[in-house]
Amino acid sequence: MSNPPHLTFDPDKPGTSKGHLVVPKGADCEALSLPVFSLNKGDGPRLLITGGCHGNELEGPLVAQRLIAWLPEAQICGRIIIVPVLNPPAVQAFSRNTPIDGLNLNRVFPGRAEGSLTERIADAVSRLLLPMADTVFDLHSFGPIWDFPPSTTTHPIADPALMIKTIRMAEAFKLPMTLVWDHPDTPGMFDISAHNQGKVFVCVELGGGIIGDEALAIYDAGVRNALISLGVVEGKAEYPTFRRRRSGQTLHTRRPADELKSPLPGIFEPRCSMLGEVKQGDLIGILHPMDSSSANSSDIRSPGPSIVCGVRSGGYVEVGEWLALLARPLNR
Ligand SMILES: [Zn+2]
Repeated sequence: MSNPPHLTFDPDKPGTSKGHLVVPKGADCEALSLPVFSLNKGDGPRLLITGGCHGNELEGPLVAQRLIAWLPEAQICGRIIIVPVLNPPAVQAFSRNTPIDGLNLNRVFPGRAEGSLTERIADAVSRLLLPMADTVFDLHSFGPIWDFPPSTTTHPIADPALMIKTIRMAEAFKLPMTLVWDHPDTPGMFDISAHNQGKVFVCVELGGGIIGDEALAIYDAGVRNALISLGVVEGKAEYPTFRRRRSGQTLHTRRPADELKSPLPGIFEPRCSMLGEVKQGDLIGILHPMDSSSANSSDIRSPGPSIVCGVRSGGYVEVGEWLALLARPLNR
């Protein structure tokens, strides 16, 4: 490798510094420079905050920029490295995947130094930024076709001690939902790489369509609560108001029963309320096929007692696509 990934500044320097993480050029494009901010107030937690992993989830970069504005004044200890946009070409294209190689950055960790652009970004992050942190907040959002409450999520972790620490950290955001998501086994996710290095990794998700002031305020409040819990800023952590409630619950999903998938193509009409309890047989929604005037609509019902934690709220669905995600209180 002629030019390895590198930082253009010293993140150990006290105070606020900024520079770039340089991702080397490859066969597919020139070198890429990702803006990186280091807020260093000495001993204390070592935190990495990233946004813009998926280019069509723009709340994360906005919340990261807001942090860079208020945190230097408020921070009392520790070092926080912030990368508002991990994948600039994807953000510029408003695309989940990187347009240059078509890859999903959150499926290629820990990356490859000699790989395509997305793999080189993952390699640079894994090699240079991840080792500097004990804790990672990766700021995502669920996007416009899902009704999903502001949440922190983690996947089940094999190491029980790391699982407990991760759930505690996720709950410290005090968002309406903390979800332990039994996700399909997908290699290459950022959190798996971080867990393999023993890091606490919390993914923040915000759902429900367009970027709005209220949603961003909830996102901000969640990140601030987490920073208070880590002791890097002072203050009192409080539940933000979401749909007239100020509370949070910790849920988990079970595969595959909790993933309700579409039996036919059509338009899904939700008939349930977000974070509402449902019993076996309760109506979750109705799927309306559009390809034939004779085809009947299909009721989608809950297979058992559960809590609705995500509902498809827009877009034409194909067979096998998710319509809803159910969950139940976490059994500790
Ligand atoms: Zn995402």
